[in-house]
Formats: sequence, structure tokens, C-alpha cells
Amino acid sequence: MSRDVVRIRHSDESFICMHCGRTVMPADSGTSNRNHCPHCLHSRHVDLTSGDRRSGCRSVMKPIGIWVQSNGEWSILHRCERCGFIRSNRIAGDDNEVLLLGIAARPLSKLPFPLEGLLKETL
Ligand SMILES: [Zn+2]
Ligand SMILES: [Zn+2]
Repeated sequence: MSRDVVRIRHSDESFICMHCGRTVMPADSGTSNRNHCPHCLHSRHVDLTSGDRRSGCRSVMKPIGIWVQSNGEWSILHRCERCGFIRSNRIAGDDNEVLLLGIAARPLSKLPFPLEGLLKETL
């Protein structure tokens, strides 16, 4: 049995988002491995290590933060609602940009210290 093209099927199939219930189509831009919903940015805890689909947890993973890599590329930090496992996933070209911005700005909108006093000291 010989084939010229071997396709990895599991990363190429559509799935129903566990959080918003919308159908997520196979990745077509920006990523080779669709691992989160572009509409609500939630993911699912299915991997033990990236892409292996061997976790038995299967719970919803919530987007909790943005992490910027040294090349400027954004990744979303996902935290599992059930077991607390945290993982980073590259953003995709069709991710909801308003939600991405909201996650990135969240710490700035909930400062744990008063901004006024800080500005007076540094200016
Ligand atoms: Zn969703
Ligand atoms: Zn989990």
C-alpha cells in the first residue's frame, strides 16, 4: 500500500464547540491545528501534550489571558474548567478580534493597585 499524500485527519475535522454550540470548521487560515473555537475562543481539554488527543478530561478550557511570543505572535492561555490544566494555543486568522482584545485588556481594567498614585510617582 503506497500513497503519495498522507493526511492527518484528526486536526482537520469540524467539531461542535462545547461552550457556544457553534460548528467550528477545519482550519483554513493561520494555523494547521484548529484547537479552539474562533467565535468564543474556548477550547477543550483533549491533549496530554500538544496535538496527541490523549487526555481523558474532555472539559471546556476557558481563555484566561494573552501571551505574546518574542516574534510578536499572540497565543491564548487556556485553563481547564475542571482540572485547572493551563495551556497556550496560537491564535488563528479568523479568531474573534473583539474577544481577543477584551482578554488582553482585562488586567488593565481590573488593576490591583490605584493607577493615580503610580502615575504621580513615575512622571
Ligand atoms: Zn465557541
Ligand atoms: Zn482538564
